[in-house]
Amino acid sequence: MPRQSEWPRCEQCNSDKVIITRTTLKKMMANKPVLKSIPEDIVNGNSTTIAVCPECDQYALGAELIEPFPFTTKDGEIKTINDWYNER
Ligand SMILES: [Zn+2]
Repeated sequence: MPRQSEWPRCEQCNSDKVIITRTTLKKMMANKPVLKSIPEDIVNGNSTTIAVCPECDQYALGAELIEPFPFTTKDGEIKTINDWYNER
């Protein structure tokens, strides 16, 4: 998990990214999403946690699913994309 001071930001929209586990990524990939904020080498790598942009990859995170995928925010909270959007 990155430290807050060096928390990853999206190169495309400058949002703070959120962190998912590789287990979650595998579940996400079952839906064959078009990932915009996770480089292919990271997808195919073996890091245990992965930074993803909740803005650019909202659909990959399950924005339209009944059970969206859990992620950890910069504040250390476990949320889903629905929580994230409701709180903006
Ligand atoms: Zn973004």
